[in-house]
Parts: sequence; C-alpha cells; structure tokens
Amino acid sequence: MAFYSKEYDLFLGVTESFCHLCRNKDRLVSAHMVTHGKEVWLRKFCLDCGESWAMISHDYEYYKKCNDYLKKPDLPECSLTPIKRGCPFDCGVCPQHQNHPCLALFNIIDECNMKCNICYHNSEPGSGNYRSMDDVKKMNETLLKVESAPDLIQVTGGEPSIHPQIIEILKYLKSGPVRHLMMNTNGIRISEDESFVKELKGIGKGFEIYLQFDSLEETALKRLRNANVKRIREQALAMLDKYNISTTLVCVIEKWLNDDEIPKLIEYATKWKCVRGIVFQPIQDVGRNMSTGDFRISLSEIREKIITDQNTAFTEADMIPLPCDPHKICVGYAIKHDGKILPVTGKIPREMITEQKGTIAFEQDRNFINTVIDTVSLDTAFGENIINKESVKRKLFFCWPEFLAPENMDYENVFRIVIMEFSDIYNFDTTNIKRECNFMIEPELAIPFSTYNMELTRSCGK
Ligand code: SF4
Ligand code: SF4
Repeated sequence: MAFYSKEYDLFLGVTESFCHLCRNKDRLVSAHMVTHGKEVWLRKFCLDCGESWAMISHDYEYYKKCNDYLKKPDLPECSLTPIKRGCPFDCGVCPQHQNHPCLALFNIIDECNMKCNICYHNSEPGSGNYRSMDDVKKMNETLLKVESAPDLIQVTGGEPSIHPQIIEILKYLKSGPVRHLMMNTNGIRISEDESFVKELKGIGKGFEIYLQFDSLEETALKRLRNANVKRIREQALAMLDKYNISTTLVCVIEKWLNDDEIPKLIEYATKWKCVRGIVFQPIQDVGRNMSTGDFRISLSEIREKIITDQNTAFTEADMIPLPCDPHKICVGYAIKHDGKILPVTGKIPREMITEQKGTIAFEQDRNFINTVIDTVSLDTAFGENIINKESVKRKLFFCWPEFLAPENMDYENVFRIVIMEFSDIYNFDTTNIKRECNFMIEPELAIPFSTYNMELTRSCGK
C-alpha cells in the first residue's frame, strides 16, 4: 500500500471524500488537500485501496481567490431530516447544511425521448414515472418550507416537455412566489411543435428555457448524446428566437472532446437574440456516465480556456467565484447589444459582490446591473451625486465609444457565462458539499443535487 507518498508541495488541510478506486459510497475516506506544482489535489486514503489522487483545480492562484470570495452563509429556513449518520448521509436537508436553495430542481418525469450516454438520471424511453400535479404541489410545499421566497425553480426530468401536463405545471409554479422559472430541455419538442412554443411564450416574463447544447460538432454530440442533434438544436433556437423566449445554453464539457470548442460556443451563443447566457458543466462521473476519470476537466481549466482566448472578451477579472459556493461556481456578466459583448464583472469591487444576496437567480440581474452602473460611474469619476440611472448609463457607455448603449437596457441585454461544477466520487469533499445551492426537491425532501445524483440519498428509487 502506497500510503504517505511525498509527491506534494503544500499541505492545505484535511477533508473527507470517497475512494474512486473501490467506489464504495457507503464509507467516507480521509483526504488531504495538497498542491502539486500549480495544481490542487485531493489525496485520499482508503483502508482497502491505499492512496489515490483526484485533481480539483489546475490553478492554485484561482483556488486561493475562491476563498477570498466566501460570504456569510444564507441558511435554509428549516431542516427536513435529522442528523443521524452525519454528512453526506443525512441529506434532505439536514441541520448541518450551510446554504439555501438558490436553484430548486423539480423532477416531474423520468421518461425521456433520448438516451444520452452521459445522462445523470439514467433516463430513456420507457423510464416513465410521470409526476402528478399533486406530487408537484407537494414538492412546492416542501420547497416553501425551506425557502419561502425561492429565487429560481428549474423543472427537469427526464424530458419535462413530454409530460402531458407540462404547461399546467409551469403555470402553477409561476403563480407562486418564485422569481424565475426555467424548463430544462433537450429541445426536441421545441424544435418541432410551434403551438407548444406559443404556449411557452404565454408563461410570460420570468420564464426561461435551459437548452441542452454541448457542441457544434457531430462527433462530440454523438459521444455525449448518442445522436447527432445539431439540426434539432438549431431548429429549437430558431423557434425560441422567433418568439424571443429567454434561453440559456447548457454545455457539458469533456476533456479532449469539446473543451477546445468553448470560445466558439460563447461566440455562437451571443449571436442569438434570445440567448441570455451559456453554462458550462464539467462532465461528472454519475448516472450512465461512469468511467475511469480520463475525461475529467476542472472548473479552473474551463475558466482558463475562456479568459485566455482573445475572441471571448472575458478577462481574468471578468470570471469570478460566486460568493455562495465559490469553489464550485464561477460567473462572468456582460452587457450584450447589437451582437457585441461588454464584460462588466471585472469593474465591480469584490466587497460589493460578496455583500450581494448570494444567488445565481437571474431575476436579480437588474440589481446587479444597477450595481455595475453605479460602480463604473464612480470608477470613471462621473461624480457621487448621480441619481439618474439613464444618465449614468449614457456616461458608462461613453467610456466605450465602440459599444453603443442599448436604448432601454433590460434583461435582454444581459449575457452571462457560468461554470458550474458538481461533486462526484472523484472530487467529493464534505466541506464543499455543505455549500451546494442546487437542490433536487422531492415531495418530502430537499436534497443537494450532487448527493442526489451520487445516489447517496435517493428516495425515488432509481
Ligand atoms: S450534504 Fe448537506 S444536507 Fe446532505 S448531509 Fe451534508 S450537510 Fe446535510
Ligand atoms: S440527459 Fe436529458 S435528454 Fe439525455 S437522456 Fe437524460 S434526461 Fe434525456
């Protein structure tokens, strides 16, 4: 057994993880956080397998910056499960959790009209399990116990658009206190059913499509999605653009497969009027995608591909850790107008960001942009007595004469890049998991998304 090798530089601390060699998910193993060159690793010690390593960041400087962005936790309003075995075996949500649900996922169906190779939920045609309106109402009641004013609900599955009551479910959720509602979709129904798209448009403001996208290349799409869905994605986008339904593109990134496409995907996203942003998710070892780990890519590697590419306009200062879960979520905001992108996050002092309510909810973008405008106006010495936002805006854009100020700047002029990394058996860490702010809402439970996908606690029996 190779315990206690010397191949590291700095010892950063101790945590607990799972051994990705024996994949025993019933027993935590001790893990050291260490640096090796510029990289940060989890060095795990399994009583059966000995020592194993998993890289959690390739950029120690950015890793340190994440700690600087940590903010005071916003806690759930109540817990739903007691402490029995300890984290992460008490999910649901237990009193140890250190973050509220910024994003609440409602799984309304296991059935899917695709069978992706990387599906975290093992969905496929025939999976069934259509949740009833009563189930959805119970999920909503559960969420409202934990978070009485939810920022963001995402309806997911399986493929939610094929649920026969999807519009009824969306309208019901929209009528509650939630600020922003999303539907996660593979885009097939949107691409071919215009009357359905009109109904989606009818949901109104504060509704957004979270469209699976991944790649512009056939090879990558076939590997990830088991089908060349390029034409379907483009048809779906054309439909969403026609009705100007806010859309976020979601790209799962696998090393050596589509990581070099990242700048091209950002450029592509900015060309569509309806697209408000793009999310990159490092591929996870969950569901149908269990593998040896060679495909893995860290959040910091994706960030580097964005900030070092000359065409993306986002610099090191523009892609920052999100204060509520800084090691796992990185964000960059820009103003979009006339096909051009003006990144703004780098203009805001860190203190102003960590003082914001910690959330990835997009309803708050208006506040965020007003903060940006205020900050930049001070930054550029336009005076302390500016009270008229329109006048500030004109002055702000005067600083970038090549960038024409939008007439009525609104959510449509926001473009954001988010890198969101979830935990799996490789990078799992009992400190970070307590900060997870994405929750799967079950009729009686609210489970952090990563522990749900790792099947550490899963009441739906999949
Ligand atoms: S991940 Fe959170 S909810 Fe789950 S056991 Fe740990 S602290 Fe509790
Ligand atoms: S990843 Fe989405 S589209 Fe693909 S099989 Fe799973 S639920 Fe269906």
